[in-house]
Amino acid sequence: MRYLSTRGHPERRRFCEILLEGLAPDGGLYLPESYPQVDAGTLARWRGVYQQQGYAHLAFEILSLYIDDIPADDLRGLCVRTYTEAVFGTPAIVPVRELEPGLLIEALSNGPTLAFKDMAMQLLGHLFEYELKRRGEELNILGATSGDTGSAAEYAMRGKRGVRVFMTSPDGRMSPFQQAQMFSLQDANIHNLAIQGVFDDCQDIVKAVSNDLAFKRRYRIGTVNSINWARLLAQVVYYFAGYFQATQSDTQRVSFAVPSGNFGNVCAGHVARMMGLPVERLVVATNENDVLDEFFRTGVYRVRGSADTHETSSPSMDISKASNFERFVFDLVGRDAALTAELFGPRLSRDGMFDLSGDARFLQQFARYGFVSGRSTHAQRLQTIREAFERQGEMIDPHTADGVKVAREQSQAGVPMIVLETALPIKFASTLVEALGREPNRPARFNGIEQLPRRVLVLPADVQRVKSFIVEHCA
Ligand SMILES: *Cc1c(COP(=O)(O)O)cnc(C)c1O
Repeated sequence: MRYLSTRGHPERRRFCEILLEGLAPDGGLYLPESYPQVDAGTLARWRGVYQQQGYAHLAFEILSLYIDDIPADDLRGLCVRTYTEAVFGTPAIVPVRELEPGLLIEALSNGPTLAFKDMAMQLLGHLFEYELKRRGEELNILGATSGDTGSAAEYAMRGKRGVRVFMTSPDGRMSPFQQAQMFSLQDANIHNLAIQGVFDDCQDIVKAVSNDLAFKRRYRIGTVNSINWARLLAQVVYYFAGYFQATQSDTQRVSFAVPSGNFGNVCAGHVARMMGLPVERLVVATNENDVLDEFFRTGVYRVRGSADTHETSSPSMDISKASNFERFVFDLVGRDAALTAELFGPRLSRDGMFDLSGDARFLQQFARYGFVSGRSTHAQRLQTIREAFERQGEMIDPHTADGVKVAREQSQAGVPMIVLETALPIKFASTLVEALGREPNRPARFNGIEQLPRRVLVLPADVQRVKSFIVEHCA
């Protein structure tokens, strides 16, 4: 399998070449040259693999279609070491349960940090360690987080050889549980930098450091952000695993509802569907930051400025532009790289938006690709959390609640709707308290986490100070 850039760069790369990279050289995103097609026989075989051998072996089957530069035995070993009951809590890894008739929840948040980002990040940790060792190289991961990504990255990379993590976060702005999760890590290769500012200040620092090419090369700076193809690929697996749990036969169809921010999670669903998984609808659920809902309703993609980005009670979906969205648009416009490059390059810089509504070709395509969308507000989020608790005794987190709310609007008779559970409620306790008047359940292993000693340095929003810190800790 070779990978291309959505903006038409002529070079074709292999999986391990793009594994440690972010954007393609022309600013595009990497995608496979084509999506491997899963025929009826393969789908039936994979159902057996998942049921009899388990998630790790299903992951190997899917990943091996996209990765041909890691020997098969090694790749299987990486999958088996990643997707264990010890790390993800259950033998099914992503168990599906019924919330109400026709509406199922797929639990993706039983990993080390209680958010779905563990599903991909844990694999990335093993892949990075493997590839760095093979090359005899080191990597310093520099990131910015508002909560879930940073902790998932730290728990995936802790103790891994050849990798250090420098994670910036806005000082005092993550939930108390998220702060405790990250700052209690004592591993020598994990560094928490609490920046006196907001999330955008953290992102600006990461950008400034990455734009200093000499520094970047000298200190081997890398990222693990959501545009990384390996993360997206790892997420494709749980769409298949969810399907096998929700259906008895491979002729049935299901829909997925996905709480969305940067469009990474639902883009993995798009890839699964393109491979031939019988998916009826891909339901994009947003919060008040409804860039994506607007696009799927109107064909207009209008990125927001940071002033127009709302701070909501489903904060991991608070985005101003959806960094993975370019991948879908590339497919939508028939893989026209010149058009994609124009839309996401000059057009967005100049107009801050593009409008495909005038072109009937594209609007008709939404249905062909299965996409529909909806949004949820704070009041609706609280209402959904309350209903799930009162009717079913289920506690769901605010992001999952947005998924459930929009899923109900978009479900069709006879087609099971699977909502992806993207976090556990304990990560967002204050919203649960607001909705239910009580603290959310806490998995026993997190008892007392807030009282553990902390390892975090508070710094002003100053690029130079962050650079100096990196230099000192790379010696
Ligand atoms: C990251 C995240 C999302 C958004 O996922 P995308 O891949 O960015 O669309 C939704 N919910 C939670 C809890 C998250 O951590």
